[in-house]
Amino acid sequence: MQYTEIMVRYGELSTKGKNRKSFIDRLDHNVRQALHNFGNLVIKASRDRMHIQLNGEDSDLVMEQLSKVFGIQNFSPSIKVDKSLEAVQAMAIEMMKEIYQEGMTFKVNTRRQDHDFAYDTNEMNMEVGGAILEAIPDLKVQMKDPDIILRVEVRLNGIFLSYKKIDGAGGLPVGTAGKGMLMLSGGIDSPVAGYLAMKRGVDIEMVHFFSPPYTSQQALNKAKALTEKLTPYVGRIRFIQVPFTEIQETVKEQLPSGYLMTVQRRFMLRLTAEIAKRRHGLAIFNGEALGQVASQTMESMAAINDVTTMPVIRPVVSMDKNEIIKIAQDIDTFDLSVMPFEDCCTIFAPPSPKTKPRLDKAREYEARLDVDGLMQRALDGIEISEIKVGDEFMNDQAEAFAELL
Ligand code: ATP
Ligand code: MG
Repeated sequence: MQYTEIMVRYGELSTKGKNRKSFIDRLDHNVRQALHNFGNLVIKASRDRMHIQLNGEDSDLVMEQLSKVFGIQNFSPSIKVDKSLEAVQAMAIEMMKEIYQEGMTFKVNTRRQDHDFAYDTNEMNMEVGGAILEAIPDLKVQMKDPDIILRVEVRLNGIFLSYKKIDGAGGLPVGTAGKGMLMLSGGIDSPVAGYLAMKRGVDIEMVHFFSPPYTSQQALNKAKALTEKLTPYVGRIRFIQVPFTEIQETVKEQLPSGYLMTVQRRFMLRLTAEIAKRRHGLAIFNGEALGQVASQTMESMAAINDVTTMPVIRPVVSMDKNEIIKIAQDIDTFDLSVMPFEDCCTIFAPPSPKTKPRLDKAREYEARLDVDGLMQRALDGIEISEIKVGDEFMNDQAEAFAELL
C-alpha cells in the first residue's frame, strides 16, 4: 500500500509537564537525524503528534529506522484522501479488502480536528462503517477489542486513514537526560548497559581502555564495531580510547597480585570520571552486574567506587546473564561481543583476585604508585573519534581469524 504519511504518537513525554516542549524539540531533532537519508520527507512535530510526510519515500524503510528512535510510543502509516465522505468510504473499502480475513471483526474510530467538517465523529463512524459492511458483508462490527480498528482523522489539510499501530522503541528521547560516559569493554554487558542508558534519554560517549601490544588492533576495532551497533538509536556516538598499558604494567609489577584488579579498576574509574568532567558528563555508566565475577561483588564495587563522587550507574546490575544476553541479541551486539579478541582486563587478570577486597588496603597499595603521573600520561594519550551509522570496523579477515581461535 502506498502510504502518504506516518503519524507518530509520543511516549512518556506526554506526562512531563513543562518540559514537554524541550522533549518534543529533542525528539524532532533525533527523528530528523535518524531519517536524514530520506531527502523527500517533510517532518512536522506538533504538541501531541508528529507527522512525517513520505512524499514517495519507501514507508517500510522509513519505519524501520523510526522504530529505533527512543521517545516514540507507537506510529501508524496512513493514507491521505480528499475531504469528502465518498473519498473516505472508497479508501476505507480498499484498505479493508486488503487486510481482512474471514471471520474478522472491526470498528471505525474517527477523530476530528476540523470541527467545521460536515459530519461529526459519530456520523463518520456510522457512514464509513456502513459502507464497509455493504462492500464486505462477511465483516462484523465489534466495539470491544475488534481485530481491526480503522482510524479516520479529519484534519484541516485532509482526511487520514490508518489501521496499523506499530510499537515504537519507547523510552525518552536521547539527550533529554543529559550526557553520560559509558565504560565500554568488548564484552556482552556494557553495550547492553549503553543501550538501556540511551533508552532513558542519556546521550552517551564511549570510554574504552586498551593496552597495546597486549591487546590487538582487532580488540579495539571490536569495541568500535559495538559502538556502531548502537548508533542507529542516536545517529552518531563519540568513541574515546584511552591507553592503559603503562598503568597495567606498573600495577602488575609493583602491587600484590590479590589487589591488581581492584587497583586497575580504580584507575579506570578515576580516568573515566576525569574525562566526564572535562566533557561535561553528569554520570558514568558501566556493565557491572552483581555477583557475576570477582570485581562485581558489593565489597569490590565499594573499593573501586571510592575514587569518585560522580554517580556510577549500573543499568544491568540486577539482571541475570540470560536476561542480558536476550537484550544483546535483540540489539544485535551479541555475536560481536562473543568474538574472542582479548580485552585488557582478561590479559592482566590475576590468577585469584580478591572477591572481598578491603578499601583501606586498596588505598594503601595504590598510594605506593605515582597516581597523578600515570593518570596524566594516560589522559595525554587519549584519541577521540566519531562513529556513525554504517561505519565498518571488522573486516572479513577478522571474522575468519576469530573462527580459528
Ligand atoms: P562486559 O561484558 O561489559 O565486558 P564483564 O561481565 O566482562 O562485562 P568486567 O570485565 O568485570 O565484566 O567489566 C565490568 C565493567 O567494567 C564492564 O561492563 C565495563 O563497563 C567496564 N570495563 C571493563 N573493561 C573495560 C575496558 N577495556 N574499557 C572500558 N570499560 C571497561
Ligand atoms: Mg568484560
